[in-house]
Parts: sequence; C-alpha cells; structure tokens
Amino acid sequence: MSYYVTTPIYYVNAEPHLGHAYSTIAADILARHMRQRGEDVFFLTGTDEHGEPVELPAEREGIPPQELADRNAPRFQEMGERIGASNDFFIRTSDPRHAAKVAEVMQRVYDNGHVYEGIYEGWYCPRCADFKTERELGPGNTCPIHEIPLEREREENWFFRLSAFEDDLKRLYAERPGFVVPHYRRNEALSFIEQGLDDVSLSRPRLKWGMVLPWDQSQRMYVWFDALLNYYTALSFAREGEDLTKRYWPANRHVLGKDILKFHAVIWPALLLAAGIEPPRGMVIHGFLLMGEKKMSKSLGNVLDPFEAIERFGSDALRFYCFREVSFGQDGAISAAGFEARYETELANDWGNLVSRTLAMVERYRDGVVPEADADPALEAGEDGLAGIDERVSELLDRIELTQALEEIWARVRRLNRYVEETRPWDLARAGDDERLDQVLYGLAEGIRVLALALHAYMPATTDRLLEALGEPERGLAAFGSRPGGASIERIPPLFPKLEAVA
Ligand SMILES: [Zn+2]
Repeated sequence: MSYYVTTPIYYVNAEPHLGHAYSTIAADILARHMRQRGEDVFFLTGTDEHGEPVELPAEREGIPPQELADRNAPRFQEMGERIGASNDFFIRTSDPRHAAKVAEVMQRVYDNGHVYEGIYEGWYCPRCADFKTERELGPGNTCPIHEIPLEREREENWFFRLSAFEDDLKRLYAERPGFVVPHYRRNEALSFIEQGLDDVSLSRPRLKWGMVLPWDQSQRMYVWFDALLNYYTALSFAREGEDLTKRYWPANRHVLGKDILKFHAVIWPALLLAAGIEPPRGMVIHGFLLMGEKKMSKSLGNVLDPFEAIERFGSDALRFYCFREVSFGQDGAISAAGFEARYETELANDWGNLVSRTLAMVERYRDGVVPEADADPALEAGEDGLAGIDERVSELLDRIELTQALEEIWARVRRLNRYVEETRPWDLARAGDDERLDQVLYGLAEGIRVLALALHAYMPATTDRLLEALGEPERGLAAFGSRPGGASIERIPPLFPKLEAVA
C-alpha cells in the first residue's frame, strides 16, 4: 500500500528554527515507521516562496524576492539533513513546474464555476498574508498574532466560493472521524465550518510576488492557494519523467502546526473538491514547543538552540527529547536544562547503559557470540513484556500517538534494566550457571535488538549503529519475531556518552 506524508512548506523569509524541525521530525517518524511496515512511502517537505511574507523582507533588503528565496531555501534543506529527515523530495514553490500545475488546477476551479469577481473590503495583515474577520481583530485593529496595526483594504478580487462547500465539508467530517487528529482539533475545525463559511479572496491586483491567475493576468493569487497545492503538484514532477500522482494521491497525512489549521482543514479540502480532486485522507495537527526556561543547563546555557544541541548531542537526542518531553498534539514547555536531564537519565543511563552492559557481557562471558537459548518467558509476558511490542507501536502510531508509542518502548527499556538487576549475570558467571546465563544473555541481546527496531523511526542514526553491531541487517518490523542465538556482536562506543563527556 502507498503512504504519502507531508510537512508544511516553510516560508523562506526566516531562519529555520525548532518549530520547523518539530513538524519535519514528526512527519519523518511516520514515514520511517511506515517504511518499516513495508509500505510504499513518499515523504514531502519544502519551502513556500511566494507572497508578501517573502516580498516585503526582500524589498527592505533591496533585492528581488527570488534572490531571497534562493538564499534561504538551502538552509531549510540543510535543516532536514541535520535532523535526519528522510524526505523523498524537497519542493520549492518558485519551481516553474509547480506553477504550471497550479495553473492547471486553478483553471479547473474556474471552469467548474467556483470563482467570481467582487469587491473586498477588510483588515489585512501582510505578515499573515491574510485578511482578518471582525471576530479575529486584536485591540485597535491589530493582528492578534503579529500585534501590528492592520491595513484597511478595498479592492477588486477574485473570490473562491468556499460557502458552496459547507455541506460537502460537513459530510467529509462525518464520514471520516479521523480526518483531523487529535480530536480536539477536529472539533475546532468542524465548529468553524458549522458557524457558516464566507467566500474567501483568491487573488489581489496589487500583489507583485505570486502567481498570476490563468484567466486574469491582472491579478495574482494569494500565496495560500499556491502553497497548499504543493502537496498535489509535487507528485507530478518529483521524479524525472514520471508522474507519481496516481500512485500516492490522496495524501495519507499532512502534518502541520495548529496555527495553520483553518487553511488546511477547511479551505484545502474545499479547493480540491472545487477542482474535482479527491481531498487528502487525513491530517495531523501538533501544538507548539514553548521555551520555558527556568534553570540554566550544564552545557547548553539557557536557551535550547536545536542546532547547537544537535552539534553536541546528535540529532537523535533532539528527536527523542521533542517527542518524549511534550505530549504530541498539545503545547508543552521545553528547555535546555530539561533536554540535558532527559539526555542523562534516559538516553545515557536507561538506554545507553543497557546497550553497553549487554554488549560487554556477551563479549566477556560468551566471546562476543549471542548464546543459543530459549526466550525467558519472564521477559515476554506482562504489561511491559516484549511480546507484541511491534503491534502495540504500530497501533499507537496509526492513531498518531507519537509520545505514547515512545513511552511504551521506554517501559520495555526499563524492564530490561530491571531484568539485569534481578538476574545478576555476573553472579551466574561466577557460580558457573551456564544454562541460566545463556538464557539471560540471549534475552538481553534479543531485547535490545527488538527495542532498537522499535526505536528506529525515532532515532535512526544510533539505532543503525546498534543494529549493525548486533549483526542485524533488517530494519523492517518483520524482523521483530525472535531471532535464534549465534550472531556475532561487536562492541561499540557508547551511543549516548555521559553528559560530562559531551559537555
Ligand atoms: Zn499577522
């Protein structure tokens, strides 16, 4: 089966920051997990390069907007590489192939009679690239997000007949309870639809940096329309000489932050219906990571700079922290001190130590070969047993419970640590209880192999190193089923060196 997952495309007017990285990592976890399940995955990310959010800063610098876009887009590509994103394509909306496809789709919307010309008057925020309704206005006609005074605009616009899709959208939400997750974001989007939809401006005469309407060369499209369409257009040119649209559309999951819910959960499906294209199957809305700095960390100072954290601790540590610390979907506080605390207690101690001890004991007591033994039922059974962990993780990730799935895996990490303390392999070695020692070492080696596979979507770099050391070439979940002993293992340096060693 095919599985198509996307991130939002990021405005090229800013530097990449943790918020961008967070969306990308979430989509990457889903993409990697689905590949592990053997699905035919396509993972898209990219940059949003049109509209006033790019035009205005370029103007201030006295350079053409394309130059600003060309300068900043590579920073977002580089961000993806640094956080370990496994995207299959990176779309830039200033790509002429995107423009051609957008024109084709918008022409269909026009031909189907879903646009009309009219006068628009309202309060406009150039930084949001959007008009605000009376309900949304801040005090003194300001933008509630940017806290800047808004401009009163009156002009001829083309309008998209959003109001005509009210019933279709209600039906879509009724037929697909999981169209928007988590459910509280679904309720938010649905109540917006139920309040009644107004038509929305599609184009403006005075935009300079944007795509012209195919049927009216005097107007340019709001950036939102061309941006949303990236999810669809990319498939037509992501692979040279091949159109992937049939293979991957409709998208399975758009991953996005709660601030752009309305555009994605209301306007986007309506626009697709207007063009006669099937809406996406679903979308995943995440909250914000809030910098709640209280105390200073040992080595990262006061503010968690994601790229500094990656430099010192590796991308896996950051990937782990973001999804461990804040329950995915909700807003939550993060900090440099919190990052280091989790790094030390969970990555270096719980997991890193378990791995080092297991590899060391297999080397010391069994010359680096995992002994042949039967699985210890004590490790398999129970709430935090290893049996069925792959199904449990899959089930949770299908429901987009990224934090809960990680917690389930971590419960097994703690279980294996307890097992070491309970069985005391060093005493078994001293007492010459070879049969029991074989069983314990086999159980531990199998345990870390299975947990490395389960953690692979979250922490691809370090689990690759570990699985290689364990002589496990597979990454798929099919490899979960227990492996007989006999594999030669290798000692490797600590996956997550202690804080003092890093700082
Ligand atoms: Zn604004």
